[in-house]
Amino acid sequence: MRRARRVRIVATLGPASSEKAQIAALHGAGADVFRINMSHTAHDQMRALVERIRAVETEAGSPITILADLQGPKLRVTTFADDGVTLENGATFVLDSDKSPGTVERVYLPHPEILTALRTGHRLLLDDGKIQLRVTEAAAKRAVTVVEQGGYLSNRKGVSCPDTLIAVGALTAKDRSDLEAVVAAEVDWIALSFIQRPEDLADARKMARGKAGILSKIEKPQAIDRLEEIIELSDALMVARGDLGVEMPLEQVPGLQKRIVRAARRAGKPVVVATQMLESMITSPVPTRAEVSDVATAVFEGADAVMLSAESAAGEFPVEAVATMDRVAQAVERDLNYRSVVTAQRFEPEATGADALAVAARQIAETLNVKIIACYTTSGSTALRVARERPFAEVLALCPEIKTARRLGITWGIDPIVAERASDVDEFIAAAGAVAVDYGIARTGDRLVAVAGVPLHTPGVTNVLQLAFVRSSDER
Ligand code: PGA
Ligand code: MN
Repeated sequence: MRRARRVRIVATLGPASSEKAQIAALHGAGADVFRINMSHTAHDQMRALVERIRAVETEAGSPITILADLQGPKLRVTTFADDGVTLENGATFVLDSDKSPGTVERVYLPHPEILTALRTGHRLLLDDGKIQLRVTEAAAKRAVTVVEQGGYLSNRKGVSCPDTLIAVGALTAKDRSDLEAVVAAEVDWIALSFIQRPEDLADARKMARGKAGILSKIEKPQAIDRLEEIIELSDALMVARGDLGVEMPLEQVPGLQKRIVRAARRAGKPVVVATQMLESMITSPVPTRAEVSDVATAVFEGADAVMLSAESAAGEFPVEAVATMDRVAQAVERDLNYRSVVTAQRFEPEATGADALAVAARQIAETLNVKIIACYTTSGSTALRVARERPFAEVLALCPEIKTARRLGITWGIDPIVAERASDVDEFIAAAGAVAVDYGIARTGDRLVAVAGVPLHTPGVTNVLQLAFVRSSDER
């Protein structure tokens, strides 16, 4: 769908946004991508959501992107005899493999792989970092810790181990079954949580069989350490600031956000900035100044997308939250400094035909003030390389495959359009011109820059650049 902005909006679905009318309202307000959080969604409900999103897509007449977010190895303590205990600073607290209910002295940690990986001196952060423990004695089935930051610890709270490389892949048994179900439901993207190493992506990629793109959530220090390799093996990235801010000092998150966004932009892979962007809108119809500034920062950085979590999934004002993001993004993109800020972080092209043509397309559009760059893209790769240039012309991506159009919906500045298969470049240029006229962004005789690969429908080939004219309907 043609939007009056280049950055994309991801809205998480949940109890506040499960009905078709609610999903349609979010889409109407500006949501381009819907995220289904598999931590909280059963398979039947997931399939119902996919079906409703597809119904909204059919009514809107333009592709909608669906992202299924897998829970990953989210670690938790079990339960306490009294549903919770208060841990005092300086006390000793043991995590062990004894299944009996917890007390103020110990609790069962049902993850043997953490117990074996913990070493003396490692930190354990519980309940989103509210409680901090440090290991003083590590054995295979038992870790003795000292409470460095105490507090009330209740049943099934999350455990983060920022100092520990845990010997588990990113996919749990639940993730595998969720992954199979979401691939069968034909979602466009699969997000992997808590990945630590590049190898963690391999199984998911194999199981997805090319039917969905793989998005890596960067939320652990171990993933930051190997960021470049992880980006290389991913199709897209997320700056998952929620868990990143638990596992790393909060004050480092803004700098890490810039690092991840830049590295993803350099690689030409879409990057989503996520979590607490408009947090106060869970209960308030208006955001804080700080939140508006946070969304604006991500837009100025040239991120591909900004994301809403609880704001759209469980908040009182889901539509207002999307509309707010949309307004902020539009205002930033009209700001006098926006182009120069985004352009300053443009990267040199890689030495490939696709990049050479993408740079040339952008330059021709700038030099001649051409308003439209049209790509014909089978796999999406041509459009992604054009988006990497962050051109300010409108980028129309004509996709003969609906799956490609849907997957591109998370990318900066790309308007993915499902197009009939063109038999040659000429036919594609005529079709692109027709779309531009239909949108009211061009008239017969205006110029457009066309990028494609011939023979058409050969994925991964970009070798044609043409400065063409929008033709009248009888010339087409
Ligand atoms: P989550 O991921 O909402 O699935 O935890 C995002 C984040 O951690 O920021
Ligand atoms: Mn997370």
